[in-house]
Amino acid sequence: VNLEPVAIVTGATRGIGKAIVQKLSGKGISCVCIGSSRKSIAGIELGEHLQTIKENQRHRSLAIDLSQWPQWTTQKKHFGIEYFPHRLESMLSMTCFEAWNTPHRRYYLSLVVNCAGATQSSIGLRTPIEEVQRIMNINFLSTVSMCNLATRSLIRCRKNQGAFPLQIVNISSILGESDMIVRGTSIYSASKAAVSHYSKVLSQEVSTLGIRVNTIAPGLVEDTDMIKNLSDSSQKGLMDIMTTDSYRSSPQEIASSVWSIYNDCNDG
Ligand code: NDP
Repeated sequence: VNLEPVAIVTGATRGIGKAIVQKLSGKGISCVCIGSSRKSIAGIELGEHLQTIKENQRHRSLAIDLSQWPQWTTQKKHFGIEYFPHRLESMLSMTCFEAWNTPHRRYYLSLVVNCAGATQSSIGLRTPIEEVQRIMNINFLSTVSMCNLATRSLIRCRKNQGAFPLQIVNISSILGESDMIVRGTSIYSASKAAVSHYSKVLSQEVSTLGIRVNTIAPGLVEDTDMIKNLSDSSQKGLMDIMTTDSYRSSPQEIASSVWSIYNDCNDG
């Protein structure tokens, strides 16, 4: 039986997540792209966004509003799009690829990239409680649930199919890992600090299951919508602090880092 690796990528509709699925699909990986709504995933098309370089590559997009945590975690299927043999909308699973399997080919979860993120628009004191909840739900709590879902799916698959390695890459931020302080990002930075530290400890907890957990903590990635949502003074604060090129990267550079982590671990 031939094995085909599958990657689940959240935040795959735009910005860094889009660059990540472009990279992974361009390397022959089958992708499950997650966006917040039917409307946002409708923009994910085969071609430039999702490439197919191998005959057996399959892709799927799912609409999951991660701000609705923990409700979304109890749903077994989500509204989604299958692209093969033609574009079809239906209710689909995130971690079960049985419909793609053939007698000689099995699809297995090989990589999860938690990239979806939301930022805040004012200082902590003026951030409404619903916005605090939303940021934590999307950035941190949904990341925890995605890691758990992937781990459970791996354990289930192993019972039937033997051992597969699984990699998890969580996208944090330099604001969650360093002493850099930007006014107006208190909740956001705390949510990313939570992601970074959670990932470090999780990596120890799941290492015996053959799961690797890594974090990427970008500095400033200017070409995405994320920065635009910050207040003008926070945008200026970020620009002032991230002065050198070493703090700045493009979505494509982050996507290449994801690929290197994935590829290095699979080679080793
Ligand atoms: P964008 O704003 O360009 O994209 C955000 C992505 O997250 C979109 O795909 C969006 O989907 C998804 N998303 C937002 N809310 C939800 C939700 N409720 N449910 C499901 N998906 C959701 O951001 P970036 O590409 O810049 O950021 C990606 C990641 O990188 C984030 O985690 C961010 O914190 C991190 N990062 C970014 C930096 C930067 O400078 N840009 C620096 C450091 C870290 P939809 O289209 O459906 O809304």
